Amino acid sequence: MRTAPVPKPYILGIHAYVPGKATASDGRALIKLSANENPLGSSPAALAALAEERGADTIDAASYPDPSANALRAAIAKLHGLDAERIVCGTGSDELLNLAAQGFAGTGDEVLFSRNSFAVYDIAARRCGANPIEVTDRAFIANVDAILNAVSERTRVVFLANPNNPTGTWLEPSEVRRLHAGLPGNVLLVLDEAYSEYLDPANQIDGFTLAAEHENVLVTRTFSKIYGLAAERIGWATGAPGLIDVLNRIRGPFNVTVSGQKAALAALGDQQFVAESRVHNSAERARFIEAIAALGNHGLSAVPSEANFVLVRFQGSVTAKAALNAIAEAGYAVRHLPDEQLSDALRITIGNSDDMVRVTATLRKLCGEEA
Ligand SMILES: *Cc1c(COP(=O)(O)O)cnc(C)c1O
Repeated sequence: MRTAPVPKPYILGIHAYVPGKATASDGRALIKLSANENPLGSSPAALAALAEERGADTIDAASYPDPSANALRAAIAKLHGLDAERIVCGTGSDELLNLAAQGFAGTGDEVLFSRNSFAVYDIAARRCGANPIEVTDRAFIANVDAILNAVSERTRVVFLANPNNPTGTWLEPSEVRRLHAGLPGNVLLVLDEAYSEYLDPANQIDGFTLAAEHENVLVTRTFSKIYGLAAERIGWATGAPGLIDVLNRIRGPFNVTVSGQKAALAALGDQQFVAESRVHNSAERARFIEAIAALGNHGLSAVPSEANFVLVRFQGSVTAKAALNAIAEAGYAVRHLPDEQLSDALRITIGNSDDMVRVTATLRKLCGEEA
């Protein structure tokens, strides 16, 4: 007789998500450029909402939050011109990505996603017993033809991060439409737009349009990145009523906290902070990519990025591991993703200007160039 509960074999196939590090090997605290957080912090309006929520006089920790996040959904709908009935909020978009897989895929089914994309997709597939199918990419960009070729009778869900993490690359709207058009109607296309607010406004993607016009497109967004509210765990998704209904059946009933709902609502109202964050990011990102390009003769290169991070490759005598250590020595944590076929690369979040100057100087020094 067994003396302990037996986990599902497909659960034991999951490699637990490894979050970005915040300490050096000697335990020293590092500045995190490893989790794609907003270096400008959060909107002052969101912080004020949190402070008010936590104020000693008014605190009510005993009451559940609004289970439907009605005020927040209404504000999201208004900002983006969507129907609030077609929106569901989640404990981060992470919850919604997992529910999308769970709601539509199960044992023996297939969940497709591009190689070198978000680590959560593999976990989301395995959590519900489905087979994760990784499709080859092309120059770190999702390859629509390869994804469509990989679709089988068992395919239930396709995940696409756009812009993509950890590569920062972007799939243009015509390619996203071509991907959707090539999928059978019974395959759910999840467009994970966690970094979409970082796109140049001229490059906006039309995920919302696809989600409004088709029954098999779900778009997810998050307050964790440009809105700077990762600590509060708030994400949302929009799609056809049938999709939202499924997610509402299986989500946590009180899945967004009182403070999270208030902070997100206030953050939505401060689009100036969003715009400032975008402008800061694109200026620092361009400067950083230029600095990496100048180290090209040492084997360094930057993958073109539309997000708030840059994947830097090390294909010369300076290895990614050596750069990781030197950057840690300088006080910063960046992301090395050796399990994702990217052992020669580091994903570096765009920090504030001082951070980027120091990281750049560290890399230049490591390459034997004057800092
Ligand atoms: C950061 C990130 C998310 C957002 O996760 P939350 O759970 O909303 O914090 C979703 N997708 C991708 C690709 C990400 O990088």
